[in-house]
This record gives sequence, C-alpha cells and structure tokens, in this order.
Amino acid sequence: MDTDLSQGAMVRVTSTNEAATVVRFAACHKIPFTVKGGGYSTTGASTTQGGIVLDLSNLRRVHVDPVSRVLTAQGGALWEDIDVAAAQYRLAVVGSTLNRIGVAGATLGGGYGWLTGQYGLAIDNLLWARMILADGSVITASEEQHQDLFWAIRGAGQSFGVAIELGFQAHEQDRPVFAGTLLFSADNLPAIIEFANQFETLTNGKQGFWFGFASPPSIAGCAIFVAVFYNGAQMAAQQFFSPLFSLGPMDNRTQMLPYDSLNGILNVLDTVTRRRNLTGFDITLPDDESVGPRKSLRGSNITLPLEVDFVVSLYTEFDVILKKFPRSRDSILLFELLPTTQIAKVPNDATAFASRGPYYNVSSLFRWHDAHLDERIHSLQRDMMNHIGTRAGIAAQPNYKVSKHGTGVYANYAGHDLPMEAIFGDNLPRLRELKKKYDPNNIFSKWHNINAPLDTLG
Ligand SMILES: Cc1cc2nc3c(=O)[nH]c(=O)nc-3n(C[C@H](O)[C@H](O)[C@H](O)COP(=O)(O)OP(=O)(O)OC[C@H]3O[C@@H](n4cnc5c(N)ncnc54)[C@H](O)[C@@H]3O)c2cc1C
Repeated sequence: MDTDLSQGAMVRVTSTNEAATVVRFAACHKIPFTVKGGGYSTTGASTTQGGIVLDLSNLRRVHVDPVSRVLTAQGGALWEDIDVAAAQYRLAVVGSTLNRIGVAGATLGGGYGWLTGQYGLAIDNLLWARMILADGSVITASEEQHQDLFWAIRGAGQSFGVAIELGFQAHEQDRPVFAGTLLFSADNLPAIIEFANQFETLTNGKQGFWFGFASPPSIAGCAIFVAVFYNGAQMAAQQFFSPLFSLGPMDNRTQMLPYDSLNGILNVLDTVTRRRNLTGFDITLPDDESVGPRKSLRGSNITLPLEVDFVVSLYTEFDVILKKFPRSRDSILLFELLPTTQIAKVPNDATAFASRGPYYNVSSLFRWHDAHLDERIHSLQRDMMNHIGTRAGIAAQPNYKVSKHGTGVYANYAGHDLPMEAIFGDNLPRLRELKKKYDPNNIFSKWHNINAPLDTLG
C-alpha cells in the first residue's frame, strides 16, 4: 500500500544483527527510520521520506514445532508463509484474511482473521516476540520476560521496536474449510442485511461473514459483494448460509478449500497482488497511474442490528461516488462480521489493543488515479466512515463506556488523522509511559505517533 518512493535508503537485511545495526545507525545519526514487512500499511507507515527503510523481506522463515504446536516466524514473514508451513502439520494460526500481508505488521496492531471467532486476535495467540529496541539491543517480550513491553506490543507494537521473530500458538486444523465469495444484485441488499442481523445469534464462532459494496469489472454498477467462511463440512456450511444462497447469487465462488488456500480468497480484491502476479514488480509502487492507482484504507465499526434503510443509503452514497469518479471503481466497502466473543473475553486494559467489544470492523478501500482528487476522495471517505461510526458504531450506543467497551477503532485501519485517544483510549497514558522507557527519542514514530501531544493529530 505504500506509495512514497522518496525514501533515502532501503536496507534489505538478512539477519537480526544486520537489522540491529541499521536501527543503531539510524538512531545514532538521527535519520528518520521505519520498518517494512509486507508493505500493506494503510497509511504509508512503512516508508519515510529521505530516511531509512529497514526491509525485512529476506527474513521470511517459519518453523513449526508440531508437538508443542508453537510456530515461530521471522519478522518479514507473510501470512502465506505461515499458513503453508502450519498446514504441513495440520495446524493453523489466526492470520489475516489476505495472505500477502505481513505477519508482524498485522499482529503488532491486533490481527483479525477468519479464525478470530474461535481463537481471538493474532495478539491473543502471540506467545512472545524478539524485539530490536531503539538502542539496537535485542530482548524477548513475553508473559515471563519484559511483561510491560509484551503488554505494549500487543496492539501498539510498531511503535516500540522491530519484531524480528514472533512465536504463535497454533491450533489443530485437520480438515478443509468452506469459504469463497459471492456477488448479488443490489435489490438483495435488504435480505443480506437481515442475514447479517441474525449473525450474532446464529454463529458458534466457526463462521465469518463479510458483505459490502463493490463494482466488479463484469458488472455495470455497484453490486453486493459477500465473503463467507465456515470451519466445518460443506453441508453444514450451506445450511448455515442458506438464506444467502436462496437469493440466487450472480456469481458463486464458494467451495471446500484446504486451510492454506483460505486467505487467498480475497486476492480477487487486491490490486497489488493482481499486478504483482502480472508483472513480478516490487510491492512499493510509485504513485502514478503508469503502475497503479492511489489508495486509501480507512475503518469504522458497527453494532448489530443494522438499520436496513441506513445501509441502503450507504450503498446509494457509495454507488454515486463510483459513478461520479468512474476511475475509482476498484474501490470497496466491507462490513466484516467475525464473531466477537473470543476478542471480548480479554479486557480492554489487558493488552494495548483497546477495541474489544460487541462490534464489527467496517473497512473502506478507495482507489483512484488522479492526484488532484486526493483531497476530495480522502474527505468523502473520512465523512462516510465517520458517519457509519457515529450512527451505527459502538460509541453511538446508550451506556457506552470506553473503559468497558473499548474505542471501536482498529489501529491498523485507523488512518493518520485520528487523535491517539480515539485509537488507544484509556490505554494511552500507559503506552506513553512505556514509550519513555523503551523508545525515549521516538525512533518508531511512523505508524501512529503515540507521543503526539494531546489535541494534535497523529
Ligand atoms: C487490502 C488490505 C486488507 C487487510 N486485511 C486485514 C485483515 O484481514 N486483518 C487484519 O488484521 N488487518 C488487515 N489489514 C490491515 C493490515 O493488518 C495492516 O495494514 C498491517 O499493518 C500491514 O502489515 P504489513 O507488514 O503488510 O505492512 P507494512 O506496510 O510493511 O507495515 C505496516 C506497519 O507495520 C510496521 N511493521 C511491519 N513489520 C514490522 C516488524 N517486523 N516490526 C515492527 N514493525 C513492523 C511498519 O513499520 C508499518 O508501521 C489489511 C490491509 C489492507 C491494505
């Protein structure tokens, strides 16, 4: 997702020692610095103008211990690396729904995946991380060692160091899963929202259901895009999703899949992967249309039940934007229904991740081509996502308390102009204290600038 090619140097390291040397060098010479894992940052946080980018793409090794079911991944691994390695032992880890995303980049901010309904977030399955700190020293953070750092890196890890190795609890996954994508015409939207409104009562944690708006090439206008997941047998899955199948989708790509293919089902939406498959070029792209569109991902949240009229009005708004700016038609808006019970079992102050409660992420990924539209599209996107949050999100609920329900903001989806309090809520003061201890000179500031003064933007 990064588009800024004006970094001073990109250093592709091959060992922990080399990576630590780069951190020490940047800190010593006060050179702006950042880390690049999978390159899917939603805010350009893995590039830095005129500075040094520590590129971890040569550090992708994964090791699985089938007896303890502990999986160890190097800091540059992608979810695809983990999924494939774990599957050899009929194991799986909670990983992102797009397998080209960096393991560390997603995990350190939280990490949602199709297995979240069964096992929580990626950070809830993180056993330890080896971190290169701002002074170049390497320490292990876990429940036993440096517990305060372990608290911080589970939700705000990008601000505390380089995760050079991560250890995860893997889970038995000895059977294929049912999953895939569906397309519906817009007149089916009210019925799909009705199904979404049943989701909380129907799910036992083994399902996922995303729906939203997209404009696939084969269709003239905006359609309703759906992605389904069921960790179980085909008949049970078809029964669970029968209210959707009975609507008669225009396109149906659901099937039984080996688990290690699951996180590839959304690659159809991912222009970066599509283009890379076509040309083999690197993921960090210059920001002009000779190589691809400009992009912005931004999140919000909803609670159930959703008002049908409200969601239909969002569809209309989205469709109008795509018609007005036809070259933005690769954009998408998704309501990401992953069961929340496991996430909410962990209190909001138990880790730095401050968004645990009975609500669901919404993501919008806008793509466009013309630089002069930047401000316009950003502002349309911001307004739309704010509108969703204030009308249908957790903060709009009566009796909402940030300490109990969390912020409703997923840091990895948060954009760059939110105040830090809005993302980290009541955990912010402790995070700021720990920043003083572990990164006093704010070397790691490109993700969310936790040290930004109150009332200023991040
Ligand atoms: C199309 C799309 C789909 C997405 N789907 C999901 C999803 O299903 N679930 C989910 O939870 N999130 C999802 N995300 C959000 C994603 O988790 C974040 O954007 C994540 O930060 C990307 O990590 P990366 O390594 O690929 O990106 P990068 O751009 O390489 O890094 C992102 C941030 O993490 C830092 N970072 C990367 N590696 C390390 C490391 N080893 N140590 C310290 N800091 C590091 C970078 O400096 C940067 O600040 C999605 C994003 C996009 C664009």
